[in-house]
Amino acid sequence: MAGVSRLQYTTENRLIRVMCSGRVDLAFILRAFSNEMDGVFIGGCRLNECNYITHGNYHALNMVLLCRKIMEHIGLNPERLKIEFMSSGEGILFTEVINDFGKKVKELGPLGKGEEIDENELKSKLEEVTKLIPYIKIVKREKLALRLENEEEYDGLFTIDEVDSLFREVISYHIDPDKCQACMICLRKCPVETIVGGKNQIHVIDQEKCIKCGTCFEACPSRFVAVKKISGEPVPPPIPEEERTIVRKSKKVS
Ligand code: SF4
Ligand code: SF4
Repeated sequence: MAGVSRLQYTTENRLIRVMCSGRVDLAFILRAFSNEMDGVFIGGCRLNECNYITHGNYHALNMVLLCRKIMEHIGLNPERLKIEFMSSGEGILFTEVINDFGKKVKELGPLGKGEEIDENELKSKLEEVTKLIPYIKIVKREKLALRLENEEEYDGLFTIDEVDSLFREVISYHIDPDKCQACMICLRKCPVETIVGGKNQIHVIDQEKCIKCGTCFEACPSRFVAVKKISGEPVPPPIPEEERTIVRKSKKVS
């Protein structure tokens, strides 16, 4: 509507159209910041006016509230991220909001510099958080699915203490080489194919690729319980390749 009405708004924006604000993933926002965007604005349909039963705008709102706390956790000013709800007919409101946001971001200065964070430090922090996105989404899935009807509740949905402890107590999964029986169930079920193993081979999790979904933990048969959950301590190193073969006792022939 802003374009049709020839309303003017700041030219420093890069517009990316999506079918629904709920499609804007946490990864998209972090990628924008990793690509040195100074601010991210998400425009969604008005709450409770979704044409579908999905109400993706509520999901977008919750994701933004969480992301703002994550930004605080890594030292970025959360005001660099904004979400606003409006109808497609509200071109004037859209231009006002975009122009105000542009002004605000300019006041904050370039990403990282405004916060006095070293460029490389910010890069590695963003990379770390990006790697943990699937884990964060699993751990916070219930809150991310909430529909807050009341604006006052927004502030309390996620707290900085909660986000700090989320990162402090990140869970890792490790396969105990003494218990693994190479049944291959976890390997088949891992959604990102990060378990290395085979027939008669003790299985090992590639920690770099693991998204910490916990599927292997759930899948390992109760008679083996070989997958361990580890929190707040380092993951033991993987067993060397040459020691992974399981030698089974052959049945005695009478
Ligand atoms: S936690 Fe998930 S991603 Fe990681 S190894 Fe287990 S199944 Fe694969
Ligand atoms: S499911 Fe358990 S016993 Fe089977 S291969 Fe995986 S870790 Fe080993």
